[in-house]
Amino acid sequence: MVKDFIQVVCPGCGLLCDDIKVKVESGKIVSTLHTCARGEWALRNANSGARLTAPLVRKNGKLVKVTFEEALTRAVDVLLKAERPLLWGWSSASVEAQRMGIRLAQCLGGVIDSTSSICHGSSILAGREAGFRTATLGEVKNRADLIVYWGSDPSHSHPRHLSRYTIIPRGMYTQMGYEQKQLMIIDVRKSRTGKVANQLLEIEPNKDYELILAMRMILKGKNVKQKEVAGIPVKTLNQIIQTWKTQQFGVIFVGLGLSMSRGKYRNIEALYKLVQELNEYARFVAIPMAGHYNMVGFNHVSTWLTGQPFGIDLSRGDTYSNPGETTGAEIIAREEFDAMLAIASDPISMMPLSIARKIAEKPLVAINCLENPTTRNADVVFPAAMTGIEAEGTAYRLDSVPIRLKKFIEPCGECKPDEEILSLILEKIGAKH
Ligand code: SF4
Repeated sequence: MVKDFIQVVCPGCGLLCDDIKVKVESGKIVSTLHTCARGEWALRNANSGARLTAPLVRKNGKLVKVTFEEALTRAVDVLLKAERPLLWGWSSASVEAQRMGIRLAQCLGGVIDSTSSICHGSSILAGREAGFRTATLGEVKNRADLIVYWGSDPSHSHPRHLSRYTIIPRGMYTQMGYEQKQLMIIDVRKSRTGKVANQLLEIEPNKDYELILAMRMILKGKNVKQKEVAGIPVKTLNQIIQTWKTQQFGVIFVGLGLSMSRGKYRNIEALYKLVQELNEYARFVAIPMAGHYNMVGFNHVSTWLTGQPFGIDLSRGDTYSNPGETTGAEIIAREEFDAMLAIASDPISMMPLSIARKIAEKPLVAINCLENPTTRNADVVFPAAMTGIEAEGTAYRLDSVPIRLKKFIEPCGECKPDEEILSLILEKIGAKH
């Protein structure tokens, strides 16, 4: 039976599982192996009734089907008329499309930002300030005997994280599998992963920073005067630090519960410092739990090409970046943009209502595989082929390992790869200049 299956990579989350098998009949995915429910959903979306199959342009208030050429003309019109277009999304597009997007932003003199500015961008900022000890997931699987998820519930966000890389598999130096490993969850509630952990620290919301500082003090042999920090007895913290000092290899997976709680990137900065200090006793690393399958890719591509990982303002003729000022949500909130290109994302659903309204009021070009509130409010919509299913491309796994995604079925309708759509827009802009 397995003979008819093709091995592919799942674009369902930042884990990019490369052991997925799919069976295709008459150009449709009919069966999958090894996927989690989330991955199954991501792959089956190729057959979804919500697929966009033809370019659309708004005429008399309604989106109507047009030729690719007409959609390109209208999109280029919208983008060229804008003084400061915002190009946003990118975390579910290939590296090749992201590279093309940065060229387009440079050409238009716009601002380009990815979803990482409302996600794990803070981990990158913290890494720049504090340094960043990390490892690949392969190293984690083979060596880690302590796994900590801090503000993260992988059972929901990355469902195969535990079974592929952390607590369950037997590694080269962890031959006894889960019997040899300790799983600790630090969260504000008893999450699903917390139910199977060896130790669950249920901490008070927004007290992560205080907790990390107390741990650092204990590690340095200083006296913490309070009885409790963040709702955790100091005695327990002492025991945890003494145990961590004796581990072979510890890994702390950083979730949005830490990077987006009070303190934001300062929480991560403090955590990275704790990880560095722990390295005086044992090998310790930290890895952010990037959600979208190529969020990390955008940060790499953007850093190669502009020196900045996200939130890049190219409207001044050179590169300027100041997170909080040049990042998408803030630019939209202050209405410092006059048109938007939303690619591989749904900002109208993702952003707060007050910001979503401002997006819908401006000229909007959307590139997406599926219909969503952003495409429904757009002036021009391009139907995109699904990367990893109908188009090949490169993506960076959450530990920064680049992985090649395959094309194994033909794109439906008039869908084209993101990279090709962006290149056609660029060509047309070149023709107009
Ligand atoms: S864990 Fe993520 S990459 Fe792996 S199968 Fe599930 S959704 Fe896909």
